[in-house]
Amino acid sequence: MNILLTSRCNRRCPYCFAAARISYPQSGAATDPAPEYIREADFGVAIDFLVRGRQRVVGLLGGEPSLHPAFPELAARAWSAGLDTKIFTNGLWPEGTIDAFLRAAEAQKQRPRLVLNLNQRAITPDPQHAAQEAFLERIGKYCALSFNIYEPDFDPLFLVDVVRRFRTRRDIRLGIAEPLAESGNAHIDVADYPKLAGTLMRLAAACDEHGIRLGFDCGFTLCMFTPEQIGRLVLAGARFRSSCGPVIDVGTDLSVWACFPLSTLSAGVRLTDFDDLRALVRHFQKHFGPLYRTGVLEECIDCRHRLRGRCTGGCAAHVFRRFQP
Ligand code: SF4
Ligand code: SF4
Repeated sequence: MNILLTSRCNRRCPYCFAAARISYPQSGAATDPAPEYIREADFGVAIDFLVRGRQRVVGLLGGEPSLHPAFPELAARAWSAGLDTKIFTNGLWPEGTIDAFLRAAEAQKQRPRLVLNLNQRAITPDPQHAAQEAFLERIGKYCALSFNIYEPDFDPLFLVDVVRRFRTRRDIRLGIAEPLAESGNAHIDVADYPKLAGTLMRLAAACDEHGIRLGFDCGFTLCMFTPEQIGRLVLAGARFRSSCGPVIDVGTDLSVWACFPLSTLSAGVRLTDFDDLRALVRHFQKHFGPLYRTGVLEECIDCRHRLRGRCTGGCAAHVFRRFQP
């Protein structure tokens, strides 16, 4: 489960699938405005919910979570409750935030886990690039890298250089930008996924060469790769999986949604209406069952990989858009 510390973000990525819940400085309110920052009491409610359900990990995200005025204190509160944190960030932290965060981590003897989302240099303005490099210099050893694919023409090999140069965790997470079910952020048509495979194989080979684990987030499809490529991914140590299901994000007002792309279809659900995380997951599995089960391509219906549970048939938000274009 992830908790949004803030609905604000100081970057604007073309593929942002959080757009319905985020306020950008340039554009004003999100389509479904939520409080800018989670109140500390509500954060406590969400943390207690996880502890009660014997969860071990919590994701902290936004927007950009470090924009919360009490960011280091909230992270420390999760650690005090015995939770490991996974902090999803764009790395645009002022020096003072880095100092305060490192002090908090040191005080609790934590080795925090950060997931630093990097975009290609071409869409990263110079000041952001400089700020991310400064961030990596100071705090890179705690960071795994994350990269979201949103157009067929991309070159992710720079990630390997970043891992080596800044001695980050040897871990790269690949995401594929999914469409908001009812909106139009940049994303790739599923029929075009096979066009990405060649580039991803080059990345997998480079990761293999340098001892970096390559992981795939939800929404990838098995048939975007040939059987031979799947074999090479396995041998390269990449963790490929085709998955889709409730992730569970908690908003700044304790509203809850299954995942960002399905957030506009999850209105009216609140954390406090459920006993624990399992009950919440069950709710969304039932609510979105047909979307999770159908598959995005015509051929998914009787595909043996889907029937055997080896492929979910892509992202449920794509399925929604397939039937309600
Ligand atoms: S379930 Fe659909 S997306 Fe997955 S391998 Fe089969 S046809 Fe491809
Ligand atoms: S609908 Fe499924 S694949 Fe798409 S973003 Fe949500 S969890 Fe991931």
